Amino acid sequence: MQLTVTRRDQLKSKPDENKLGFGTLFTDHMFNMDYAPDKGWHNARIEPNAPFVLDPATMIFHYGQGIFEGLKAYRTADGHIQMFRPQANLKRMNYSAGKLCIPKIDEAFALEALKELLRVEQAWVPSAPGTSLYIRPTVIATDPYLGVRASHTYRFYIILSPVGAYYPEGFNPVKIMVTREHVRAVRGGIGDTKTMGNYAASLLAGEKAHEAGYTQVLWLDGVEQKYVEEVGSMNILFVIDGELVTPMLNGSILPGVTRDSVLALAKSWGMAVSERRISIDEVFEAHSAGRLTEIFGSGTAAVVSPVGELKYEDRVITISGGKVGPVAQRLFDTISDIQYGRAEDTLGWIEPVL
Ligand SMILES: *Cc1c(COP(=O)(O)O)cnc(C)c1O
Repeated sequence: MQLTVTRRDQLKSKPDENKLGFGTLFTDHMFNMDYAPDKGWHNARIEPNAPFVLDPATMIFHYGQGIFEGLKAYRTADGHIQMFRPQANLKRMNYSAGKLCIPKIDEAFALEALKELLRVEQAWVPSAPGTSLYIRPTVIATDPYLGVRASHTYRFYIILSPVGAYYPEGFNPVKIMVTREHVRAVRGGIGDTKTMGNYAASLLAGEKAHEAGYTQVLWLDGVEQKYVEEVGSMNILFVIDGELVTPMLNGSILPGVTRDSVLALAKSWGMAVSERRISIDEVFEAHSAGRLTEIFGSGTAAVVSPVGELKYEDRVITISGGKVGPVAQRLFDTISDIQYGRAEDTLGWIEPVL
């Protein structure tokens, strides 16, 4: 497939790299591609980032048939640009597509198009410590139609956003709260896809957690409300008796690329790793027996996010004295070093761009 590039005449001014937040600023250009039943995916183009004009009846607005991804491009010390495991994100996007009745994309073509977009926008990849260019590929259903069925037409687009360091002043362990009032996803549902509705389903519990002074919700399984699933937009890991334990992928948990990377690294260090069901009761029992030494989340945004406090009904526990533990620290350092080119990429996770 051909990829056309139309450049903007007047470029935006670049932001102060030391004041970048998350997801508020967007680069000059974006990637767009359309799907129609008779043409398949077509009209792949890089063009100025601009608002879409869509009919108010467009299906994405009504039935949420859409999917997205989140990954980053990093600037190395010698000025190169590279991505971390983008193939894994594109593969997961196609998995999500399958579950949402969205036609699959050609992963190899999408990767090349993304690399070309990054080359066009290279000046937007920041170089201040911990900063990166966040990449948001998205697919939306575009038929203007109010009947309930899968759309016949789609738009695939990629936007880019320079983002600041997640930990500008070092780790700040988060306080998380188990909810039993709400569930995020159920067995047989779409919890294992990156789709808009999962986030809509999580908002109210998130607001209640904030009101109670907690940063994120720790979700339990939607069937028995007994087993730990994940936290906010991160997977969750525990260190119990020196073993790294995380909930097994059961169809309602999002299969995180960072989760997978964390498990692979820990195994490569000779650490015991187990993917299994873990109940919230077991977590509290391990804590009272002094066997639980760390809890942390994993995700693209933060890499690793230590949990300092966990609340479940009327019980509140402090983990690692509210500080970052050695396993979380080592994983964060190693993955960040690979992402920014400071450590050798022994596991083949780096995709060079420029
Ligand atoms: C994206 C996401 C994650 C983390 O996935 P990564 O690929 O590691 O960024 C975890 N949970 C949910 C619900 C997510 O949407």
